[in-house]
Amino acid sequence: MDAADTPLEPAQAGPKDFIREIIDEDLASGKHRGVVVRFPPEPNGYLHIGHAKSICLNFGLALAYGGRCHLRFDDTNPAKEEQEFVDSIQQDVRWLGFDWQQHLFFASDYFGALYDFAVELIEKGLAYVDSLTPEEMRAHRGTLTEPGKDSPYRKRSVAENLDLFRRMRAGEFPDGAHVLRAKIDMASPNLNLRDPALYRIKRAHHHRTGDDWCLYPMYDYTHPISDALEGITHSICTLEFEDHRPLYDWVLDHISAPCHPRQIEFARLNLTYTVMSKRKLLELVATGAVQGWDDPRMPTIAGMRRRGYTPQGIRNFCAAIGVTKANGTVEYGLLEHFVREDLNKTAIRRMVVTQPLKLVIENYPEDQVEHFEAENNPEDPAAGTRQVPFSRELWIEREDFRDDNPKKWFRLAPGAEVRLKHAYYVRCRDVVRDEAGNVVELRCTYDPESRGGGTPDNRVVKGTLHWVSAAHAVPVELRLYDTLFAVPNPTGSLAAELNPASLQALQGLGEPAMAAVQPGERYQFLRMGYYCVDPDTRPGRAVFNRTATLKDAWARMEKRAVGSTGER
Ligand code: ATP
Ligand code: MG
Repeated sequence: MDAADTPLEPAQAGPKDFIREIIDEDLASGKHRGVVVRFPPEPNGYLHIGHAKSICLNFGLALAYGGRCHLRFDDTNPAKEEQEFVDSIQQDVRWLGFDWQQHLFFASDYFGALYDFAVELIEKGLAYVDSLTPEEMRAHRGTLTEPGKDSPYRKRSVAENLDLFRRMRAGEFPDGAHVLRAKIDMASPNLNLRDPALYRIKRAHHHRTGDDWCLYPMYDYTHPISDALEGITHSICTLEFEDHRPLYDWVLDHISAPCHPRQIEFARLNLTYTVMSKRKLLELVATGAVQGWDDPRMPTIAGMRRRGYTPQGIRNFCAAIGVTKANGTVEYGLLEHFVREDLNKTAIRRMVVTQPLKLVIENYPEDQVEHFEAENNPEDPAAGTRQVPFSRELWIEREDFRDDNPKKWFRLAPGAEVRLKHAYYVRCRDVVRDEAGNVVELRCTYDPESRGGGTPDNRVVKGTLHWVSAAHAVPVELRLYDTLFAVPNPTGSLAAELNPASLQALQGLGEPAMAAVQPGERYQFLRMGYYCVDPDTRPGRAVFNRTATLKDAWARMEKRAVGSTGER
């Protein structure tokens, strides 16, 4: 049951990781004529950046080989699964830029087939109904160093097993009374082969099958059969399933499956300063540690979207980290680097003062307003320009002024001169303070000859500041984020490891263009960082999430690496 109608050449493009090498071999040997892979999330939470790695890998393979990638919901655990998660997962995969076309599947669609295959296993003497209590079953299981013991029910006849299994299905027994187990080997050194459970009785409402079923198949049984029913060629999963592969193969070897996909494992993504387990993420949401699955501090796709990360930035990150067999942890800064790199190309530039300090130009006419033309994105001429109003009273960034004027300080200080971006040079003449001695206003003069950023005498002015005309400024709320956890490798203990300063809100002032922003738009605020308009935005109050600062440690490291080889 191969996907492609015509034989496919191995893909030429892209780096060859070990998975592509396997696929190339399988195509060259004629084992497969095309590539069919799947992304199989359990709908028990929102997708996170780790899932993005798997999505980019699987959908990327389908694209590279002209094959297809199925989206399959692994919905065998009704107690934890919800339609909300099914919907969010589809939205997030699409947002990342991938398309499963008509290949949307649910493991629950196979409940009937899975039941029939279980009957087949019972008939072959390869599965039995066990009636031990969970505690007894655990005691029989043995340990890593000791073999398990056979259950006394292991010798039940085929007829008795068929009868019991049918009655399990019919709802004759309470939850937990019996399980169906594979009859493999209680002494196997691989614990997954010690007669693993295939079915459990559980009265739970399923988000798709309702109350049709009171017994549900286990993941390790469901997954290989779902893959086979869909004609998957390569079933790619994370390393923790390596020890489950013998069971994956055992199931398919012993039923009349239409094909036998090959399971291939790769290392899951871990990132510093965050956690990736859905259980932990759910706990963050449930305890109110964050404001929801899409809180911009969350490592979820929804959170990253709200924060302003771009699909292209995330895809570039996933391509850069590649696929390996070795578990490790990736620096969060690397993800930010790829997001910045993409935003630098696409984000519209604006001037916003995040912590305003008043600046008055004493020799500028009281009622005069000039408009300066400012480029929207120096990286993209097609982005055009806008007019920015300038007047006698401006707001500048509080941290751009220092009283003590230290060495190498090129910004404002008493007596110092700076360039105001797109406008004039100004020199600080006087500093106004409140009773407590805090600086509340700078009195300056401007040089009318410096219009547009230079003077006839070519005076050297090193600092360039952003600013906003006070009469034209619009209020903006800025949400600045730091890492969710305070420690680089959190274990997930929320109370002890959460970063108490992960969110800081500022009331800033922006140029007039900021009055008409729409949720989802991404900007670079000159000198301050990348920001994205939050859905909390209301008329008269724009709310921005800081996506990332402008500082990029990774870009600097790359430059240094290139520079040093260049010098040799
Ligand atoms: P979690 O442990 O976060 O709950 P999971 O593996 O239980 O994740 P699933 O919904 O089963 O979540 O995952 C769907 C697919 O995404 C699986 O193929 C899984 O291997 C892959 N995946 C999950 N987490 C990661 C990760 N951190 N890195 C790479 N792939 C991942
Ligand atoms: Mg899982």
